[in-house]
Amino acid sequence: MRPRVIIVGGGNGGLLTAHRIADHADVTLLEAGIDPGDPVPARFLHEHAYPDHDWDYTNLDSGSHLVRGRVLGGGSTVNAAAGSRGQPSGFEGWGPGWQWDDLLPAMRAIETDEQFGDRPFHGDSGPIRVTRLSPGPLDEAFFEACASGGHAHCEDHNAPGTRGYGPWPTNRVDGGRWGALAAVAPLVRHRIGLRPQTFARRIVMHGDRATGVEVQGPGGLETLRGDLIVVSAGTYGTPELLWRSGVEAPEIGVGLQDHPWVMMNVQARHEADIFARPVSGSLLRAPVHDDPADEFQVFPFSEWLYDRDAPRDGYSVSVALMQPISRGSITRGDDDRARIRLGHLAEESDLERMAVAVEKTASIIDDMAARGIVRIPSDAWWKTGDLRHGLRRHVATYNHPVASCGIDRTVDRRLDVRGTTSLKIVDASIMPKIPDGGPNLVTMAIGWKAGGIVLEDLGL
Ligand SMILES: Cc1cc2nc3c(=O)[nH]c(=O)nc-3n(C[C@H](O)[C@H](O)[C@H](O)COP(=O)(O)OP(=O)(O)OC[C@H]3O[C@@H](n4cnc5c(N)ncnc54)[C@H](O)[C@@H]3O)c2cc1C
Repeated sequence: MRPRVIIVGGGNGGLLTAHRIADHADVTLLEAGIDPGDPVPARFLHEHAYPDHDWDYTNLDSGSHLVRGRVLGGGSTVNAAAGSRGQPSGFEGWGPGWQWDDLLPAMRAIETDEQFGDRPFHGDSGPIRVTRLSPGPLDEAFFEACASGGHAHCEDHNAPGTRGYGPWPTNRVDGGRWGALAAVAPLVRHRIGLRPQTFARRIVMHGDRATGVEVQGPGGLETLRGDLIVVSAGTYGTPELLWRSGVEAPEIGVGLQDHPWVMMNVQARHEADIFARPVSGSLLRAPVHDDPADEFQVFPFSEWLYDRDAPRDGYSVSVALMQPISRGSITRGDDDRARIRLGHLAEESDLERMAVAVEKTASIIDDMAARGIVRIPSDAWWKTGDLRHGLRRHVATYNHPVASCGIDRTVDRRLDVRGTTSLKIVDASIMPKIPDGGPNLVTMAIGWKAGGIVLEDLGL
């Protein structure tokens, strides 16, 4: 008989693991949100704000809402589909088995890079199509400002060691998200038992062994038995599920990290320029100081796309620190919900480096204003008052929370929850520290690699 594997969470990690193991094991995949179906309805490909498919978390540091997709595809069904992997150096400190060279085969396996698939560090036959959008007028103007600021041109931001300005690598097809829902779910649905709208209440433990999952679904409350339970409920959802299950693993929630992010909002002189390329097509990656590995990212975008209360001519130039050292935390609330503190800029060094990144970005914006492309408001926060104070007020999430159940803390190198058997975690929470790219593709690669570990463990 084939081993029974229950995967909790149909997001980036869970769906890719399911895809890898589905031909060898009897897989049940539980997803609390809906399955939008195949073909995917347009709104799940193109729209950004849908509160009816959200977990409704809050950053207690700021009181701001944290978006988390509650829908098949998870984060990749609600995200900006930016597909940057980060630098090899960003994986230093992940330890044996999880360095860049170890993850590269999985990164290649999951993607088809439409421009550079023939290069050794890219894939040409994976389900996730990665492309670079042709630049719009504002992207071209941003590139010119970067060039006059002395930054180099970079044709492929996913080529190891490259820096500078160039087109965003993005997992989009015809402008819509080509994430785990659109690209992977159609390959998996018919090979597994997919149970949407099914919430995992707790993992059933017998001593230290996980033996099943108690679920609340369309058929009511029931307990499913499994030989292996894989938790892929995401950086916030996974700690909650472990707590509800009485699993006492070390350091749950302790190492949480996110990229701190600020928006420098200006206005486009010509609104039509924004809507010629509403999804951001341009990205700058540059060192904060002399250490080339200590990067910040800058990209401009239309905030109106994400927030219909924002002005239509609004052009947000966003800046993120990609190697923060600050850590936040997730602790257990009385209601078993995650109490989240992202801890942005908690460390003085992050604040200082973020200030440098903003000053460097301000000179790019000044250049664009001088050429009549954008208008800078007279009360722009980075121009008035104390910059560090302004940063503390404006810092927000880049939506990249990771590392709440990291390798060598909560899980071991085979992703087994320490102190348990037959229980693994496979999602962004297992990252030991944040990479200097986005977690979207990296988490899919973790899901794929973890599928290989599952097959080995089950002797398949
Ligand atoms: C608004 C937004 C924009 C983003 N933009 C980008 C970007 O452009 N580039 C980038 O690199 N990254 C981006 N990210 C981050 C990226 O999408 C996530 O890092 C990635 O999705 C994490 O994958 P995961 O598998 O850890 O979790 P998720 O993809 O969140 O999957 C977890 C899944 O588990 C389900 N689940 C949770 N608890 C339970 C339960 N108890 N029972 C059943 N199911 C459960 C959830 O519904 C969800 O489907 C963005 C994220 C957001 C929210």
